[in-house]
Amino acid sequence: MSCKCLNCGITSKEVVLLSCRFNGEPVYVCVKCLPIFIHGSH
Ligand SMILES: [Zn+2]
Repeated sequence: MSCKCLNCGITSKEVVLLSCRFNGEPVYVCVKCLPIFIHGSH
């Protein structure tokens, strides 16, 4: 079972993924997409 980035869908084999929580669910975000979530995408 591989983890995927919530935003771009990249897998943990290709890039470092960070474990987070969204809406109480465990999700993963890659280091490239992390700034998007920090600054807000909408
Ligand atoms: Zn990503």
